[in-house]
Amino acid sequence: MQEDIIHNLAIIEKRIQDACNKANRDREEVKLLLATKTVSADRIKIAVEQGYHLIAENKVQEVKEKHQVLSELPIEQHFIGHLQTNKVKDIMKYGISCIQSLDRVSLAEKLQQYLERNDRTIDVFLQVNTSDENSKFGIAPSEARNFAREIAQFDRLNIKGLMTIGLFSADESLVRPCFKRLRTAQSQIEELGLPNVVMQELSMGMSQDLEIAIDEGATIIRVGTAIFGQRIYPDSYYWNENSNN
Ligand SMILES: *Cc1c(COP(=O)(O)O)cnc(C)c1O
Repeated sequence: MQEDIIHNLAIIEKRIQDACNKANRDREEVKLLLATKTVSADRIKIAVEQGYHLIAENKVQEVKEKHQVLSELPIEQHFIGHLQTNKVKDIMKYGISCIQSLDRVSLAEKLQQYLERNDRTIDVFLQVNTSDENSKFGIAPSEARNFAREIAQFDRLNIKGLMTIGLFSADESLVRPCFKRLRTAQSQIEELGLPNVVMQELSMGMSQDLEIAIDEGATIIRVGTAIFGQRIYPDSYYWNENSNN
């Protein structure tokens, strides 16, 4: 089990390096985020001990369950799942430094309220639905500028970039345009020159499409399966409107 994770990490590291070489990018420009849904804290620890410090969960409940073990490790924890407004208070207790899945104004309002009360700020990425699938959260690419303008008014939220889940397909000609759309949204938002908005991160690319994402400018790739193995739950359980986070 330990050997598997270490071995898989070596394979991923090679894939990232090869993709960077091909795209003429430095390895340091791309952060590997461990997507750890369904993975036990003990297994996450094995990967962290290999020098990977950026991890993220999809569900508040899992953040809570793993908190004790993980809080002893040198990690930076993001949140990448659908966040219900009534879970804001809950999630803020666990040292999450960035919410990558900000997808609606009502969530921003709740976050702002909490952060004002506790005199803090938090980093956020705006989630964009680049594949136009109803099953996925995120704002439409055409709405990205307006959404950024609205969110920029919440002074406790530091907008640091964009996140997307590409189309789940083995057909590169369908996947690549998703990542291009995110990059386009990035430059469109940059042009607005909004205060409080730094478009430095593009979080895109997962186990099966990380090479394409790196080629299109990803600064954070989020990898689960290729490191920790297949999950028993289908991803729809994590990505659907009806799932109970
Ligand atoms: C699960 C998940 C990932 C990782 O997906 P894999 O295919 O397991 O690498 C990345 N991003 C989000 C938002 C996820 O939910």
